[in-house]
Amino acid sequence: MREVIVAEQAGFCFGVKRAVDEIVKVLTDEGAAWSIGMPIHNPQEVSRLQAMGLKIARDAAEVPDGARVFVRAHGEPRAVIQGLRARGAKVSDMTCPFVRRAQERASELSSRGYRVVLLGDVLHPEIRAIMGNIEGAADVVAGVEDARKLPKAPRVALISQTTQREELLAEVASALVLRAGELHVCNTVCGATVERQDAVRRLAGRVDGLVVVGGKESANTAKLRDIGEAGGMDVVWIENIGEMDWRWLDGKAIIGIAAGASTPQGLITEVCDKIARM
Ligand code: SF4
Repeated sequence: MREVIVAEQAGFCFGVKRAVDEIVKVLTDEGAAWSIGMPIHNPQEVSRLQAMGLKIARDAAEVPDGARVFVRAHGEPRAVIQGLRARGAKVSDMTCPFVRRAQERASELSSRGYRVVLLGDVLHPEIRAIMGNIEGAADVVAGVEDARKLPKAPRVALISQTTQREELLAEVASALVLRAGELHVCNTVCGATVERQDAVRRLAGRVDGLVVVGGKESANTAKLRDIGEAGGMDVVWIENIGEMDWRWLDGKAIIGIAAGASTPQGLITEVCDKIARM
């Protein structure tokens, strides 16, 4: 038997669990419902929900009038939710409360005249949703280089996508001090993300290799892989046990397991059990 050490925090975070539990409850009661885009970044879990009756719409326009529709944990622009309600949709808004907080801070500071700067991925739905919940303009920066290129502004509010690293937020804040007369920094990095990242750091030096389990579209899972590699660990990233290259285990006695916030417990358990037996 091989030794397997699971990171102290791994798998579903509060916001994803809350959304998935509600989707399962509604599908059990009503038999069918829509989600705008993938409800979570995990194809195996999405397939399970689709088998229960969930339909995935590419955008809000594809959701039929009057249908039950979920707003996923990443949130949606305000106009999208208003448009769905205007068409009679029964909206189950599962925007994570931590994402909601980022939206509210951005909205409040924008309406007070701050130029909003969002740290994150401009293509990520959470960032698009935050931008769609403020009245004024916003800039999106991926890091310090982008921040240095911004024009100077009298009042700037820096708000983070919830899955960013706190260290990067601090670096971008330092860069923005030189671009703003007044800088307001909101640390909207989610505790669940930080906890999963710290749990990976604590595995460094204790394992011969790290298996990261999670969807390839999951930003927070990608960060766990990056942190493992930065900590000197030999890392493989798999969505499910079927992707495992068993030769990678050769010569490794102790394996660490990490999992993103959208990875269901069943997949983590399966990976642990199989690796332990190999
Ligand atoms: S990672 Fe944090 S912000 Fe994102 S859904 Fe989970 S609990 Fe909410």
